[in-house]
Amino acid sequence: MASQDCEKMRKKWAEDLKAAGKTALSGKLLDIDSALSALWSTYQGSKLGLAILLEMIDRWHGEHAGAGASDKTWQAVTALERWAAGVYHQSTATVNARGSDFGQKVIAQRAVVLKSGQLPLKISYHVQQRQQWPSEKMKTYTWSTYLEVAEHGPVVLVRVFAAYDPGGAKSEAIKQSMKNVIESFWNVAKVDLGDGRRPRDLQFDLTWVDPSISSYRQLIVPKTTPVGPPPKPLSAMNPAELKAWRDEVSETRGAGASLSKWDVEDRVEVIHEFGHMIGNPDEYYVKSFENVPSPYRADIYDKPGFTTDSIMNNTDNYDKKNNKSYGKIHLRHFDTVKRAIAQYLMCTGRSGNTVTVTL
Ligand SMILES: [Zn+2]
Repeated sequence: MASQDCEKMRKKWAEDLKAAGKTALSGKLLDIDSALSALWSTYQGSKLGLAILLEMIDRWHGEHAGAGASDKTWQAVTALERWAAGVYHQSTATVNARGSDFGQKVIAQRAVVLKSGQLPLKISYHVQQRQQWPSEKMKTYTWSTYLEVAEHGPVVLVRVFAAYDPGGAKSEAIKQSMKNVIESFWNVAKVDLGDGRRPRDLQFDLTWVDPSISSYRQLIVPKTTPVGPPPKPLSAMNPAELKAWRDEVSETRGAGASLSKWDVEDRVEVIHEFGHMIGNPDEYYVKSFENVPSPYRADIYDKPGFTTDSIMNNTDNYDKKNNKSYGKIHLRHFDTVKRAIAQYLMCTGRSGNTVTVTL
């Protein structure tokens, strides 16, 4: 969607409201108006912005079930709804939650609507993996997920809380860039909530909080790893040489990188660490784990690194545009999130529903 389309609809909405005699807006109508204003200014016309707008429209309809086609306000809201739903379903863009403050406000409102103090639902799982590299001692790693589940109309939004502490300047651009690369990689799944409605978009929102907030976030510090020049120009390498070189670079950068220490020059490494933040163990040399919904399988988890097509094993050579990706997302990588969504459904009176994630 272009900003002009949005502007055109805003004009029409304002005219329709005027025709309906609505000049001083309040309540749910004001919520709709705010969501429409934020659609471009905060959300750049993204699916999340549209989802929030549709959610506000839903709530207005909920309060005005008796209104019909002869009511001018109803006509205005319905025209806006048709437009927003049309754009939403045309749009191939994934949701990229840019305006966390507004989103947060919306979630807070939903908590009131559902009269539950538990929403939005924060869910932390403590994951443990035991990993043993060849001829080394077994090591145990533990970490927690910092998730929050909410619904926005056609979107199930999973916030993942992290604080970035670079001990230096320039962090805003790096944070935004890491958020973009992670969300564009991971926001690929649909989730069926077992309620007969069409599957929702499963959207992650890497939510950066201030490092001074000491709880409910993963603390991340950056590192960079100097990599020397390749033995010859990349364009002169055959595919095997290229892969060997990229493996070497990835391995160098991956060394010393972890859930709490990201190599900010390695986009794929960052995508892999986010995989841990949503509850996934490594898939190399891992001998066992705890609190992971999928059962342990040696043929998945106990492989050498850079040898399978999974992002939790292989951070080499990710090139989405050219469909060259060794490290892909697999359905099992959503298992913990799926568990969190099932828990969210329990808290919202839908404990009998089956959650299904598809790619
Ligand atoms: Zn890892």
